[in-house]
Amino acid sequence: MDWQTVLASRSGRMKASEIRELLKLLDRPEVLSFAGGIPDPALFPADAFRSAMAEALSGPAAGAALQYSVSEGHRPLRDWLAGRMVALGIPCDADNILITSGSQQALDYLGKLLLDPGDTMLLAWPTYLGALGAFNAYEPRFDRFDPTGNRPASDYTEAAGGRVKALYLTPDFANPTGETLTRAQREAALDLADALNIAVIEDAAYQVLRYDGDPVPPVLALEIARKGGIEDCRTLYCGSFSKSLSPGLRVGWICAAKPVISRLVLMKQAADLHSPTLNQIATDRVARAEFDAHTARIRAAYRARRDAMLAALSRYMPAGVRWTRPEGGMFVWLTLPDGLDGADLLARSLATEKVAFVPGRAFFADGSNGNTLRLSFSCADEAMIDEGMKRLGRLLRSA
Ligand code: PMP
Repeated sequence: MDWQTVLASRSGRMKASEIRELLKLLDRPEVLSFAGGIPDPALFPADAFRSAMAEALSGPAAGAALQYSVSEGHRPLRDWLAGRMVALGIPCDADNILITSGSQQALDYLGKLLLDPGDTMLLAWPTYLGALGAFNAYEPRFDRFDPTGNRPASDYTEAAGGRVKALYLTPDFANPTGETLTRAQREAALDLADALNIAVIEDAAYQVLRYDGDPVPPVLALEIARKGGIEDCRTLYCGSFSKSLSPGLRVGWICAAKPVISRLVLMKQAADLHSPTLNQIATDRVARAEFDAHTARIRAAYRARRDAMLAALSRYMPAGVRWTRPEGGMFVWLTLPDGLDGADLLARSLATEKVAFVPGRAFFADGSNGNTLRLSFSCADEAMIDEGMKRLGRLLRSA
C-alpha cells in the first residue's frame, strides 16, 4: 500500500519530535530524570478512587456507570465544577461546562472549532508542546504573543487567505517555563483579543498547584468583570483533573459561553460520544469528598520539591545560567549561554552524568532557542534533586 496517495495533507504535519525519540531512552534506572512532566503516582488518591469506583459499580447504579451517557458530561460533575468556577470569579452554571477527555481533547476541539488552514494562532514563545501538536493538525500558522503589551495589535498580521483567530495562554505556572502572567499581562491579553476580535484559549491545567504568592484571577474572570457575564466573553477556559486527582482517568472540561458549548457538544458527539461514564462518576465522588484536602497535600509535597530544586540550582549552576522561579506547577526553565544546545547536552548527559531533562527547542513553534531546557521537580525526592542538579551543574560547567 502506498499510503502517501491516500493520506490527508495534514497528516504530514504530524511528526514525532526528535526529542520524544530521545526521551524514550530515559527510562533506564541509572538515569536521574527530570524530563517527564507528570504527577507523582505516589500522591494519587488511590483509596478514594477504589471506593468511589466500587460504589459506582454496586447494585443497580452499575447499569448507569457502565452505560453510554450524555455528550455534555455527567451532570453532578458539571454542577460541582460550576461551583468551583463561581468560586474562581466565574459565575456560570452546568450548561457552560462540557466534560472532555483531559484538557488535551479540549485543545484539539478548540483547534477544530476555530482554525481553518492558514489561520493564525497566537501563542507564548515557548508553548506547551501538546498544544502545538493539537493545533498543528488544523494547519495554522503560529505567531508570538508578546505578554508585555509592547507589540501593538496592528503588528499581529495574518497570512494571505487566513485570519488571526485565537490567542492560546497558560496563565498559571506554564509548561514549560513555570511562569505566571501578572494581572496586567492578562488584561493586556484581553485588550489585544478585543482589538483583534479573536478568541482566547485559557489553559488552566496547573491552576490548583500554587505554592506561594497571591493567586491572580483567571483571564475568564477578568473578562467577566469587564463585560458583565460569561455569555459576552471570548475566553474559553480549559480545566483538568490531571494534575489534581489523576491524569489516567482523562477528565477535563471547557467552561465557556453557551453557544460555544453547544457547538462543542456536537463535536464531542461526532468524535467520541462522551468521556468514560465511570471515570466521570468516580471523579465527581472523589472531588466532592476530598478535592480541597487532597490538593492541599500534593501542594505541600510539590512545594518542598520546588524549593529543593531552586536551592540546588543556586548551589550548583555555573555563572551564565539563568532560571525561572515558579510560584507553582511542575517546571523550572533554564536559559544557558548562547551557543549551548539543550539537545546536544542531553545526548552528552546520557553518556556521562546520566541526568535527564527536556531540551527547550521543541517548545518553540519556530524551533529557535536551542539554549534552553526544562526541568521537572514533580517526581523527584529532595535527595535526587540535589544529586541531579550537582550532575547538571558539572555537565554545564564542562560544556
Ligand atoms: N495543558 C498543559 C499546559 C499541559 O502541560 C498538559 C499536560 N501535560 C495538558 C494541557 C493536557 O493535560 P490533560 O489532557 O491530562 O488534562
